[in-house]
Amino acid sequence: MNFLFILSVIFIFSSGGQVNKPHKKERVIIDSHITLAEALKGKEIPNTNTKNLRIIDVEYYSFDNGLHRGQVVIHKDLAEDLKEIFTLIKEKKFPIKKVDPINKYDWSDEASMKDNNTSAFNYRVISGTRTFSTHSLGRAIDINPFLNPQIKNGQTFPEGAVYNKYSRGTITANSWLTHEFYKRGWRWGGNWKFTQDYQHFEKTKIIK
Ligand SMILES: [Zn+2]
Repeated sequence: MNFLFILSVIFIFSSGGQVNKPHKKERVIIDSHITLAEALKGKEIPNTNTKNLRIIDVEYYSFDNGLHRGQVVIHKDLAEDLKEIFTLIKEKKFPIKKVDPINKYDWSDEASMKDNNTSAFNYRVISGTRTFSTHSLGRAIDINPFLNPQIKNGQTFPEGAVYNKYSRGTITANSWLTHEFYKRGWRWGGNWKFTQDYQHFEKTKIIK
């Protein structure tokens, strides 16, 4: 019996027989944990808009470097895309402030944006118009909206937000995140002609 063998026997016994101890499970901070019915409360919404919605859990590192779990209300056809993208967001530790369904903000897009909250479904019109937004079918998502505001006619939404493409959590034309959305057939609002909506990705139905 040589010395190294004795050492390894001692090690195995002292570690309870497990040489490779599994990593301690990381604590998850829960930002949202509700049902779809709860997420749709507080607003009259036609069944044609809600029937295809799903609520999915997503995990991400926030700006506190902690691992968080939130929820997205999204059209069922886009749920897989978002799950894949959020897996990458978590892996790459792209910071996401929080992901709460919009009813937590009393259905106020403005309040959600000011809180830098990422959200998808919202039954609302495009601001300043009577046209329903792609968000009202759950076919769009706004990511870190305070860091990625919308710029329209020289005005910034939400008010007080500043787009600095070098900040963490910001989306640009060359971001890996933008490319992952493109690969799955989504469009990015950051390169639209008359407005730059840096927070916005959407995938609308292809009309043939
Ligand atoms: Zn949007």
